[in-house]
Amino acid sequence: MTELVVCSGKGGTGKTSIVASLAALAHQPVLADCDVDAANLHLVLAPTIARTTPFVAGRRAVIRAEECTGCGLCAELCRFDAIERVADPVRGASCRINAVGCEGCGVCVHFCPAGAIDFPPARCGEWYLSETRFGPLVHANLDTGAENSGKLVTLVREQARSTAAARGRDLILSDGPPGIGCPVTASLTGADHTLLVTEPSQSGLHDLGRVLELVDHFGVPAQVCINKYDLSLPLSGAIDAWCAGRGIPVVGHIPFEPLTSDAQMAGRSLVEYAPDCEASVAIRGVWREISRRLPGGRGDADTRCARPIPLVARAPRP
Ligand code: SF4
Ligand code: SF4
Repeated sequence: MTELVVCSGKGGTGKTSIVASLAALAHQPVLADCDVDAANLHLVLAPTIARTTPFVAGRRAVIRAEECTGCGLCAELCRFDAIERVADPVRGASCRINAVGCEGCGVCVHFCPAGAIDFPPARCGEWYLSETRFGPLVHANLDTGAENSGKLVTLVREQARSTAAARGRDLILSDGPPGIGCPVTASLTGADHTLLVTEPSQSGLHDLGRVLELVDHFGVPAQVCINKYDLSLPLSGAIDAWCAGRGIPVVGHIPFEPLTSDAQMAGRSLVEYAPDCEASVAIRGVWREISRRLPGGRGDADTRCARPIPLVARAPRP
């Protein structure tokens, strides 16, 4: 089984749009949306949810009001300011916990002199097993303000792997989170390959460098594609040179395509919506290059910059 994770050092590079097209091009993939803080792959893939499961992680304090004496010690001790004192018509004063602010440290539970605070497991969101026109999709939704996104990413990946095993599929295609934080780490550990999507801007190059450090740390073979490359040929060339100097293959240059938004609005990937546009042709080229490098008989893994891909200026759009 091979797991390919598509990441980007920053948001807004068009990563998810590219994943949707790769999902259309891949042979019987299992799909995973690991961007659990802002999942949106489902907007293009229009899944039918087959199973919904609560995501429970950590604990959250809950005061049993009838046993609270209103001493206020818990509010004094809470370092996250999650407890406030409130007037109580029966006892004169009581305390109330803001569930969103509670970090689940357990201090108030330990020190409450009345033993009036429960500490049950916390529901932080839910995850879904869905069916799409390209295959099963495992995705999730973290509740607003909830923590443990890395843990939820790990859960999504585990479920994608077990789904692939159960259905005899040997490719997992994951839409990774943007950035370099905990959810990205959780997406990359133990993955087989990563495609890093960047764009021709100074921040694109800077953030590509940051995510590549992470990828190197975990020893995941990386390849890069430059999306909207024609918005700045000099910066695309700089990214090419930067990657070549580090032995990172650049597997494609995808031109800016205004139809991408139309495709999203129509709930289609670009390669379905406009299969003959230049961007779709480029995405198919990206998939060909990736397939060639994936382990498992799809071609030889080649971590060297295979060859420079010429950049061409395109005619202005009408
Ligand atoms: S420490 Fe316990 S008894 Fe005191 S206010 Fe908090 S919950 Fe109530
Ligand atoms: S468990 Fe910790 S964070 Fe939550 S209310 Fe109690 S002291 Fe505050």
